[in-house]
Amino acid sequence: MLSQVKNIFLYITTISLLLLGYIYYNNKQFNDNPLSQEIVERINQKNHHLKKLIYQKYGLSVNIPIKISSKIKDNLFGLAVYDNGNIKIILNKNRFQESEEYMIDYVLPHEYAHALMFVLKDFPNTNGGHTKKWQQICLNLEGKKCDRFVKHNDIVMGKIGFIY
Ligand SMILES: [Zn+2]
Repeated sequence: MLSQVKNIFLYITTISLLLLGYIYYNNKQFNDNPLSQEIVERINQKNHHLKKLIYQKYGLSVNIPIKISSKIKDNLFGLAVYDNGNIKIILNKNRFQESEEYMIDYVLPHEYAHALMFVLKDFPNTNGGHTKKWQQICLNLEGKKCDRFVKHNDIVMGKIGFIY
């Protein structure tokens, strides 16, 4: 009887360790490698679609680079950066592990709306740039995360420092 309990215990321990190893391996794989080709392709398609919407609604041809970085703060999904006339969007690579859909359909249009405000030379410093005009742009870009009362500040004016 006792040896049976021991065996079951040993069995459970082994399975748990294997699972932990598997999770560790998967995380390491994700962290050490760039995003999969499939995700990159989905980002490119969305980018293309957003550019088309901006052209249709605002008559503007924009070309805003989208960078993927794992160096920005964990609680930020993305950032819109304005540095001396250069505009770019940075998406937090680590957040793609949880949900690609959220990053592409929610976060990207939200940041694009900030970037378009920069293109329009509209630099509000109220409410982290989440003004009524920004919200309208975000909705026009079919954004799903266009609420104005968000706690974080996801726009950067000037060089981005190490904290991002
Ligand atoms: Zn924002």
